[in-house]
Amino acid sequence: MSEPLLQVTNLQKLFPIKKGLFRSTVGHVRAVDGVSFSVRAGETFGLVGESGCGKSTTGRSLLRLIEPTGGDIIFAGQDVRKMSRQNLRALRRQMQIVFQDPYASLNPRYTIKQTLEEPLLIHRLGHSSREREKRIEQLMETVGLSPSRMHRYPHEFSGGQRQRIGIARALAVSPQVIVADEPVSALDVSVQSQVLNLFDDLQKEFHIAYIFIAHDLSVVKHISDRIGVMYLGKMVELADADDLYHEPLHPYSQALLSAVPVPDPDAKRDRIILQGDLPSPANPPSGCYFHPRCKDAMDVCRLKAPDWQEVKPGHFTACHLYGHAKGGA
Ligand code: SF4
Repeated sequence: MSEPLLQVTNLQKLFPIKKGLFRSTVGHVRAVDGVSFSVRAGETFGLVGESGCGKSTTGRSLLRLIEPTGGDIIFAGQDVRKMSRQNLRALRRQMQIVFQDPYASLNPRYTIKQTLEEPLLIHRLGHSSREREKRIEQLMETVGLSPSRMHRYPHEFSGGQRQRIGIARALAVSPQVIVADEPVSALDVSVQSQVLNLFDDLQKEFHIAYIFIAHDLSVVKHISDRIGVMYLGKMVELADADDLYHEPLHPYSQALLSAVPVPDPDAKRDRIILQGDLPSPANPPSGCYFHPRCKDAMDVCRLKAPDWQEVKPGHFTACHLYGHAKGGA
């Protein structure tokens, strides 16, 4: 098996809670609380969980768009957390991000040509304006847009087309990894599959690794090789997409999966309705963070946080239902 391109170990992001006249720190929101995973070249790693579980903060921390509080991020053998500004710029050529809202992430005053030219200028790609224009034409064709529209503005495009522009902007610098942060959740269902197919085609053509973030497991399931499930800042399960789909171990993953429609009516799953709301990460429950909502909770779950363990080869979870096995990431 090839070495991971990206290795994330025990990633942490705490946001201080400030109160009073002097804005003193009275506590922390544990937005990302000890998350570990790896991504290989050309692989899609899906990251799922309810909104507020820390998956977007994780994605942004990888590029240091948000500064992590702790843990290690090793990309292609380099320590991302120790990178200088200059090295960080080089990193952002290798690791790009596509945001959820394609309208908010595009500058409304920039034409598509200006939008796509910006990363080429920042990273000094293309020596002349003609060379850059050629690259922009090529990028627009690659994402299924007519280059004749490069002088138009974002508002002249549909939501799906705007997301294609966001993808073209990420592709402009030929990255090895794209963090796709809920890239289809703002789009109509009819357009979602087209954009997912585009991600798939681009991966085949350019061998890009994706960290694909979504709250909807049905979106992530189709595109991912492996999936990590997050709950309240922690990874609770990580497995091959097929394993997770056919045999989810963690009660939270089971609940998420029970909401995914199945094409075969005979294979219908019973829907597990999660009780209560997601607790606040500023004041998480004791023991296993999921215990107040878990249908299988036992006494030990309130008292002790479960260890992260490899229950089957490559299939990890943190849950007291499984006997203690050798842990790993
Ligand atoms: Fe449920 Fe206990 Fe497992 Fe947590 S550790 S998911 S509460 S069974």
